[in-house]
Amino acid sequence: ISAFQETPLLLSDGIFDVTRRYNADTNPNKANLGQGSYRHDNGETWILPSVRMAKEAIADCDHEYLAVAGLKSLRDEVEKLVLGNTAAFKEGRVASVQSLSGSGALMLAGLTLKTSNTNIKTIYITDPTWPPHDLIFRSQGFEVRTLPYYKDHSFDFEAYMDVLKQAESTSAVVLHACAHNPTGCDPTRDQWRQIASVIRERGIFPIFDAAYLGFNTGSVDEDAWAIRYFIDDLGLEAGLCLSFAKSMGLYGERVGLVAFVTQTPDTARAVFTVLEVAQRGTVSTPPAYGAHIANAILGTRTIAEQWERDLITMSSRIRGMKQKLYDELVRLQTPGDWSHIVKATGMFAYLGLTLAQVEYLEAKHHIYMAKTSRISVAGLNDSNIGYFARVLDQTVR
Ligand code: PLP
Repeated sequence: ISAFQETPLLLSDGIFDVTRRYNADTNPNKANLGQGSYRHDNGETWILPSVRMAKEAIADCDHEYLAVAGLKSLRDEVEKLVLGNTAAFKEGRVASVQSLSGSGALMLAGLTLKTSNTNIKTIYITDPTWPPHDLIFRSQGFEVRTLPYYKDHSFDFEAYMDVLKQAESTSAVVLHACAHNPTGCDPTRDQWRQIASVIRERGIFPIFDAAYLGFNTGSVDEDAWAIRYFIDDLGLEAGLCLSFAKSMGLYGERVGLVAFVTQTPDTARAVFTVLEVAQRGTVSTPPAYGAHIANAILGTRTIAEQWERDLITMSSRIRGMKQKLYDELVRLQTPGDWSHIVKATGMFAYLGLTLAQVEYLEAKHHIYMAKTSRISVAGLNDSNIGYFARVLDQTVR
């Protein structure tokens, strides 16, 4: 008798299936607006010029294991990049380890909250959110609850706050630092201040998921505003889960960092040991190659300057494509109001189509997107945007 007699059949993550179907399609008009990876204006993946420079600089790097906490110089550079001007950084109140990209950072954050005697039992995530939030924290035994997030093409601030105000002090809340995935609707600064105030009053623990710092507006400082407001202006403890997948185009290398900002240097030292044990007990040591690349970028002035230009290149192209799509739909007099496309932050736009319309676009017009009708705008370029706007127009009529 098999050990797997009772094994359930689980659905795989739909977004990887979209890419699989796209790859199998031979139609020349096909466009992949599913997976959130940046594409340049020719539709190809883009190796950032700063990454090319960094790869040359590290051509002789060896292939040894990194330390359990990862590459020390990278951790220092990343802490400096995001938190450099904060009191927490200057006073040594930050504990960090390199992680398997943003996903690994979330995993280590959850494990650390579990094993640090924090008494946190519940994790609040937004509805909707990036699907692994639920998977990661539920698999660690947390109770996962949702905060309503989206209504009428915008952030549903009131509904969000109503639920947040009920959260117990045994909860943590996952906050998208910028470029909320999938909606592209971020709180305004004033709304962030109100959210932070409830979090402080109720003693909720904030976990920032920061997968798009610098990629969103082109400026890390601008995109890290909310993080610094919580940590520095309010002096709150927080978890930070950082990914360099999007901002450096290092998707497959899995470069990330998890950090906890604590109240004292002693606490940071204790949390660091828990983070190290969590890493050792899961992936042992994080991957080296991408870490060496990211380290060369952040630690070499000329390469860091090129990276800043690359962030502007990517974020401006995405903004430009959103504007073109919007202008095209207005020109075609497509029924409905599409202004949310240009208002949304980040690499996605939520179109608000029905599932039948999404399926029709794929079957009839070879346009691939998530079934929620979230499109990855980076998949649009000057060669396919006219076609996309036309078939979208036709579909919603
Ligand atoms: N969090 C959010 C909201 C994301 O959108 C992503 C990437 O799509 C991640 C985290 C981290 O992804 P990765 O593990 O590839 O860094």
